Amino acid sequence: MKTYGHFIGGKAVAGSSGQFGDVFNPSTGEIQAKVAYTTRVELDAAIANAAAAFPAWAAVNPQRRARVMFKFKELIERDMDKLAELLSMEHGKVLIDAKGDIQRGLELIEFACGIPHLLKGDFTEGAGPNIDLYSMRQPLGVVAGITPFNFPAMIPMWMIGTAIACGNAFILKPSEKDPGVPMALAELLLEAGLPPGVLNVVNGDKLAVDTLLESPDIKAVSFVGSTAIAEYVYARGAANGKRVQAMGGAKNHMIIMPDADLDQAVDALVGAGYGAAGERCMAISVAVPVGEKTADALIAKLKPRVEALRIGQSLDTSVDFGPLVTGVHRDKVKSYVDKGVSEGASLLVDGRNLKLQGYENGFFLGGCLFDHVTPDMTIYKDEIFGPVLSVVRAPDFETALSLPSKHEYGNGVAIFTRDGDTAREFVSRVDVGMVGVNFPIPVPLAYYTFGGWKRSAFGDLNQLGPDSVRFYTRTKTVTARWPTGIRAGADFSIPTMK
Ligand code: NAD
Repeated sequence: MKTYGHFIGGKAVAGSSGQFGDVFNPSTGEIQAKVAYTTRVELDAAIANAAAAFPAWAAVNPQRRARVMFKFKELIERDMDKLAELLSMEHGKVLIDAKGDIQRGLELIEFACGIPHLLKGDFTEGAGPNIDLYSMRQPLGVVAGITPFNFPAMIPMWMIGTAIACGNAFILKPSEKDPGVPMALAELLLEAGLPPGVLNVVNGDKLAVDTLLESPDIKAVSFVGSTAIAEYVYARGAANGKRVQAMGGAKNHMIIMPDADLDQAVDALVGAGYGAAGERCMAISVAVPVGEKTADALIAKLKPRVEALRIGQSLDTSVDFGPLVTGVHRDKVKSYVDKGVSEGASLLVDGRNLKLQGYENGFFLGGCLFDHVTPDMTIYKDEIFGPVLSVVRAPDFETALSLPSKHEYGNGVAIFTRDGDTAREFVSRVDVGMVGVNFPIPVPLAYYTFGGWKRSAFGDLNQLGPDSVRFYTRTKTVTARWPTGIRAGADFSIPTMK
């Protein structure tokens, strides 16, 4: 059986803990690989390798660093099919979606290819007599990233692309549930010409994360995962003097106005609600039709579509979505469906008893659809992270607007309407970080920034785009007087540009 170790100083390292996690094939329920959990020894080695590699990498000019990113992109494209299959087999998302996961990561690598331009500073000639003022962006040093299971290609690439292109050395701690693709990405970066030690991957769980949060050599930590852990990482990292960005969970609403194109809205709901078995932080998990007539018409169209969802093993290209990532997670999602029923919501489509012939031990759950969900119910308040869609009926626009705005999470939201005034008002007033108009999963492209509001993100700077360059660099501002030999005399007051 395959065993994943760590990737330190450009080499595969087996690890010494003797402790391993299971990597399942979620379609069959079988353990297909083991992943070594790190000890302090490997972590210290990773940090030492990164610290040693940093000065030389930071001194490489930005254009050469960009060339490594160009090559990295080529290599990922070369290996796309192989990577997508590995991703699909460890995560359980279907192949086309696995390719989408890689492609969205590649878009950040394409952004990082522009790093010479992105790192340009400001310059003011003649800010004072013979004085020029300028600023530059310098890398932080050794930085770390901790990633979730649900985008094992995209989210590591979000982090390593910008961080490394900016001249930092990086330690990645991927999810222990599907470490295969992150490990493969590290090998590809080495092949692309990245010097050994600039990127290190350590596998593990809480011990690995805590060690990174404590280490004085780690200057910044980027985290993506559930809210409870994001909050913990943010607090502990910040208390240890680190720059931290920590993205958390979500409960994304989609508002359907009475004038919406209902067929378009239903297509959007099945794709964004059930794609990847709902295991996306930007999945739509709450549909909010406005008015009883809209709600009845929506349900009439939506229910048969949810009943007709095709679910199967992840490499079967004819299915809509595959299994959940683990049996433990599938059971948790199922227990939320039980809870919804006991709290009085109407379960219109019940996917709990789905069994697939030949895959009886796979972690499958059929699509579930609830109607008449109310804001006090657990299935409305909690992030379920499975193929479960809740319909909350709103009597009017103001109620619909207030639902996502008052929810503790504020990652994504969408509105479907044909009315520009309504859309504009919604975009302006909703208390959520990423908004879609007639667009269900508003994940911005890599040259914008990605980040939710409220308890969906902790820290000031987002992932992706210009924010990621700011996160992985610090600004140095220089005031320079040339030529020398000009005597201004001693000035005992604070210098001003008179
Ligand atoms: P998770 O929080 O369980 O794990 C994320 C990372 O934290 C993993 O690397 C894990 O090993 C580590 N970790 C787990 N428990 C820890 C602990 N007690 N102490 C320290 N580290 C710990 O999340 P997950 O289940 O892998 O991913 C799903 C979650 O991620 C969902 O809540 C989803 O909404 C969220 N997510 C958010 C975004 C976003 O950008 N907002 C994107 C993707 C996923």
